[in-house]
Amino acid sequence: MATRRAVAVVTGASSGIGRATALELAAAGFDVVGTSRNTSKVAALDGITFLDLDVTSDASVTALIQQVIDRFGRIDVLVNNAGIGSTGAAEESSLVQDQNIFDINVFGVMRTTKAVLPHMRAQGRGRIINTSSIYGFIPQPYMAVYVASKHALEGYSESLDHEVREHGVRVLLVEPGATNTAFEGNIVQPDAPLAVYAQQRRIADQLVADAVKGGDAPVTVAKAILAAATDSTPKLRYTAGPLAGRLSLLRRIVPARAFDRQIRKFNKLAS
Ligand code: NDP
Repeated sequence: MATRRAVAVVTGASSGIGRATALELAAAGFDVVGTSRNTSKVAALDGITFLDLDVTSDASVTALIQQVIDRFGRIDVLVNNAGIGSTGAAEESSLVQDQNIFDINVFGVMRTTKAVLPHMRAQGRGRIINTSSIYGFIPQPYMAVYVASKHALEGYSESLDHEVREHGVRVLLVEPGATNTAFEGNIVQPDAPLAVYAQQRRIADQLVADAVKGGDAPVTVAKAILAAATDSTPKLRYTAGPLAGRLSLLRRIVPARAFDRQIRKFNKLAS
C-alpha cells in the first residue's frame, strides 16, 4: 500500500538514540519503520512499524529496503543509526575484531546507503542522515577503532553528499556527545588485552562509563536528527547537545598543540 506521508527508516531503533528518533519522527508526521536484529524482542511503539535488519548482511539490507518500498511505496529519510562501541588500546584487538566494528559502523552504513539511493534518485528527493559522534572529528585514546569508524563515516558522508545533491538527495551528519543509552553496556572489549595497557585502559573505560551515564538524553540527539530530516536548507553537520557543540567549535579554533595537550590531560595520560 503506497502512502502519501513521508516515510523514514531508522536503523537500530530498538533502544537509545534510534528509539527516540523513531518516536520523534512519528510525532512529526512521518510513517516510520524502525529496525532491530530481532524485532520479536522489541516492545511495540505507537506509529512505528518494526522490521528485522542486520546491517552486516547484504541479503538482510536488500530485503528490508524492498519490504519498505513494497509496503509504503517510497523512502524519504534513511537514518543510519545502528552502531556499536569498542574500547581498548588499538594494539589490543585482533584485526578480525576491528573488521567486525567497521562492518557495523561503516560498511553497514554503506550497505543501506547503496540499497536506498536508487529509490531516492528515482524520486528526485531524499535524505540520508548518518549518526556520527564527537569521535567523528576528535581523537579518543583507547577507542581508536571506534573513532576510526566514525571518522570514516564523516569522510564518506561529506564526499557522497556532493555526488548525490544534484539528484535531490542530501547526506547529512549528526554528531552526538555522550548520550545516556545502552551504548556503554554494548561496547566490545578487546580480544587480545595486554598488561602494559591495562591500567590506562581501565581509566579510559571509567571515563566513558561516567560520560555516558551523565550524558544527554537520547531525545536531544533525536531532535537534531529531526532537524536534519526536515530543515528546508539542511546543514551538512548537526552537533547534538552542548558538549558536542563546544567541542566542534574548539576543534576548529584551538591550535593543534593546545588541543593535543587537552586530550592527554582529559584522559589522564602523562604529558
Ligand atoms: P544502543 O546500544 O542503545 O543502540 C544501538 C542500536 O544499534 C540498537 O538498536 C541495536 O539494535 C543496533 N545494532 C547493533 N548492531 C546492529 C547490527 N549488526 N545490525 C543492525 N542493528 C544493529 O546505543 P546508542 O543508541 O547510544 O547508539 C546509536 C548510535 O549513536 C550509534 O551509531 C553510536 O555509535 C552513536 N553514538 C552514541 C553515543 C552515546 O554516547 N550513546 C555518542 C555518539 C554517537 P538490535 O540490538 O536490536 O539489533
